[in-house]
Amino acid sequence: MSRIIVVTSGKGGVGKTTSTANLGMALARIGRKVVLVDADFGLRNLDLLLGLENRVVYTALEVIARECKLDQALVKDKRQPNLSLLAAPQTRNKTAINANHMKALVEVLSRYFDYVLIDCPAGIETGFQNAIAGAKEAIIVTTPEISAVRDADRVIGLLEANRIKDIKLIINRLRPTMVKTNDMMSVEDVLEVLSVKLVGVIPEDEQVIVSTNKGEPLVLAEKVPLAGLAYENTAQRLDGQAVDFIDFNAIDDSFISRLKRWLSGNSK
Ligand code: ADP
Ligand code: MG
Repeated sequence: MSRIIVVTSGKGGVGKTTSTANLGMALARIGRKVVLVDADFGLRNLDLLLGLENRVVYTALEVIARECKLDQALVKDKRQPNLSLLAAPQTRNKTAINANHMKALVEVLSRYFDYVLIDCPAGIETGFQNAIAGAKEAIIVTTPEISAVRDADRVIGLLEANRIKDIKLIINRLRPTMVKTNDMMSVEDVLEVLSVKLVGVIPEDEQVIVSTNKGEPLVLAEKVPLAGLAYENTAQRLDGQAVDFIDFNAIDDSFISRLKRWLSGNSK
């Protein structure tokens, strides 16, 4: 059974595209056949994050307009044969695509792939409606900030009203030291507001920026950074495995205690 999952948030800039790219690559690496659909028409980010931008010839728009075959529009990842991308049109009229088109498109894709992950645009307008049209499940991405959590809550309501009941949550850009000093909402705080199932917690990690600039998902790095490990764990949970959540506090503590020892001249 193929899974069609929309990655959405309400608020922009919280990590939808980063999460789609990294979950997609992580799922492909554990042997799942994955297609990423960039439904953020007009912006086209996913191809950049994956380093596939130079290989995009056709997009979802040409497929829908029957100007090319689906096969021709799918860009295969050069590093990971299980991963494909259907890019978003950058220029032409966005209104050329409606919810029925998107629904038909992802349904066809679901015949060939284990996972269809749809990267949703920000907001709750037409682009959002199109992106969720064919989805059977959703992943909500939020940062631990009131404004993002509030938007996420609203989107959860909209998804449920659109018959998407299987909703999971990723909390992104968590900063454990700020949580400790009560300057940031904790995972528990967020879960108190949003009563959906937590599937991943991704820490703030500057390697995300490095990875974006390189066009190489975090999980492919030679030394996988903490955010990359968190995405790998999230992908495994999404795939049905029971994986413990990383204890970021423990990691921070050990770092601070190491630092303290180092400062006190006792590096043992
Ligand atoms: P969205 O698709 O929701 O608009 P993006 O995935 O494009 O969000 O991320 C927005 C910005 O935040 C990007 O510049 C990205 O590099 C950065 N970012 C996302 N997640 C993290 C993270 N865990 N740590 C640091 N920066 C991040
Ligand atoms: Mg995006």
